[in-house]
Amino acid sequence: MNNFGIDLWSNNNFFIEDGLLKINHKNKPSLISLVKEIRKQNYKGPLLFRFPHLIEKQITRLYNTYNAAIKENNYHGKFNAVFPLKVNQFPTFVHPLIEAGEKFNYGLEAGSKAELIIAMTYNKKAPITVNGFKDKEMIHLGFIAKKMGHNITLIIEGLNELETIVEVSKETNLPCPSIGLRVRLFNGGSGAWAKSGGIDSKFGLSSTEILEAYDVLEKNNLFDCLTMIHFHIGSSMNNIKPLKNALKESGHIYAELKNLGATNLNSINIGGGLGVEYSQYKRTINYSLQEFASDVVFTLKNIARQKNVEEPNIFTESGRFISASSAVLIAPVLELFSAEYEAEHLRLKEVNPPLIVELNELYKDMKKRNALEYMHDSIDHLESLLKLFDLGYIDLKDRSNAEILTNLIIKKAISFLEVNAYEELKRIDNKIQEKYLLNFSIFQSLPDLWGINQEFPIMPITHLDKNPTRSASIWDITCDSDGEIEFNPNKPLYLHDVDLDKEEYFIGFFQVGAYQDVLGMKHNLFSHPTEVNVTFDENEVKLEQIIESQKIIDILDDIDYDTNEIKSILNSQLDDDIYEILEKYLNDNSYLKTTWS
Ligand code: PLP
Repeated sequence: MNNFGIDLWSNNNFFIEDGLLKINHKNKPSLISLVKEIRKQNYKGPLLFRFPHLIEKQITRLYNTYNAAIKENNYHGKFNAVFPLKVNQFPTFVHPLIEAGEKFNYGLEAGSKAELIIAMTYNKKAPITVNGFKDKEMIHLGFIAKKMGHNITLIIEGLNELETIVEVSKETNLPCPSIGLRVRLFNGGSGAWAKSGGIDSKFGLSSTEILEAYDVLEKNNLFDCLTMIHFHIGSSMNNIKPLKNALKESGHIYAELKNLGATNLNSINIGGGLGVEYSQYKRTINYSLQEFASDVVFTLKNIARQKNVEEPNIFTESGRFISASSAVLIAPVLELFSAEYEAEHLRLKEVNPPLIVELNELYKDMKKRNALEYMHDSIDHLESLLKLFDLGYIDLKDRSNAEILTNLIIKKAISFLEVNAYEELKRIDNKIQEKYLLNFSIFQSLPDLWGINQEFPIMPITHLDKNPTRSASIWDITCDSDGEIEFNPNKPLYLHDVDLDKEEYFIGFFQVGAYQDVLGMKHNLFSHPTEVNVTFDENEVKLEQIIESQKIIDILDDIDYDTNEIKSILNSQLDDDIYEILEKYLNDNSYLKTTWS
């Protein structure tokens, strides 16, 4: 049975039982039961479920694994982690994250002034690190955070930032935050986002600049503030080798600076990059969390021993690893585009052309053992019938019957046979793919899929006790031909042949908790899906903080239309009773409501 690669990507967060996709936590509810519950409350369109228990699970795994590696290696540094807010800044995500991380002293990383304000407001006693390019105002904010009592480290990306820190320190007399140096390593990363590391990276100081930074700190009596070396070689690394090289390089820079006299330097921040499995077809990450953590601890221990310096504290800024699994998008299927090929559309006559009669028999008599043969025959018959149509020997009804019957025969053959075992079947499968129209926007909910061809696991949340037989492409409801996930014969997606007049069918998109929310765009003015936080009491599931997809009038307001003007122009041209109806539409969200009763 096709299980949509759940063993590869789901990390046991979900499982299939009785044909339903279920959440592997507490009372193990099915996703469809949650969808139904929400839809009962009249929220239609796409839904984004957030699962705080999965955020907690990942934070716990991260700390437990590193702490186990530290223990095993008798390492003397401490493990610390911060969450990079750029990966998900939404309050419905950040509040549960802070709550789940409190017992570990899990902190936040900010890369802009707005993110720093979030960290300064909601972080409790945990560390804050600040990356990215900074102006004087952002550095000043860092000093204010320090004054508030935060354990904050400003990680400088260039010497000018250090000079600004000196300036702010002199001008404000505020206590100076800890300072980190982002080093530009020779060793770059691996994986789709590898360009944040390496000698040509946009970020970080070269060796010469590190030595200059050291002089600037010394000259300005800020030497004691230098506590951290930082690097980030790229997001979602699929190969561990570049990390090992980067660790050696940064470990030696740390040790050299220690031996030069950087007494308070005590930490190496290895950035993010811990891989997430996005593929449902084959494993793409070549290491486990245990291996990753052991390599970090072991390499840093060796360098510290070799250069006779104290073992550094370890900081990580993993983002995807913590957040990706925590959100799932569910989109209702609105239409199957080849529904015209259903048997009910046949218009068989009392007397049909012999080839049509034969097609009908092939369809009825097909068994597993003759499926391939009958399918070949049907394709030959269709070709002949199309020629007969061109020559004027059969009519439009016959042609329609021929197309429907051949389509039905191919579908039936595919249901009997293992598609991948036959090259030819794969080719045909590709041609007769079904187009599933889903009530969502790829631009809004899966921007990385559109922008950088990022893969996300996709599967239906019901019907999982039946093998899916339709090679599927997915269309969203935007008026843009890029709003499509094409069928890819190398990574084929099969979905079920459903009759939407009789049953509903929902498709889940997984691992969407990292970056997708904030990168999502309002193409065609579709805003975020309706969001729900799914929490668990002992044996009861709770749907909390439901945030409905934005109303049309609010979307227009967001892009700076004068909504009073819109209302008054419309009102002035319509009778009151019609305007009243129109006003209801303005207060609806943009997604389709075809399924509304
Ligand atoms: N830290 C820094 C400096 C980054 O630039 C990034 C992402 O690019 C991260 C952490 C998070 O990386 P990931 O989400 O791969 O863990």
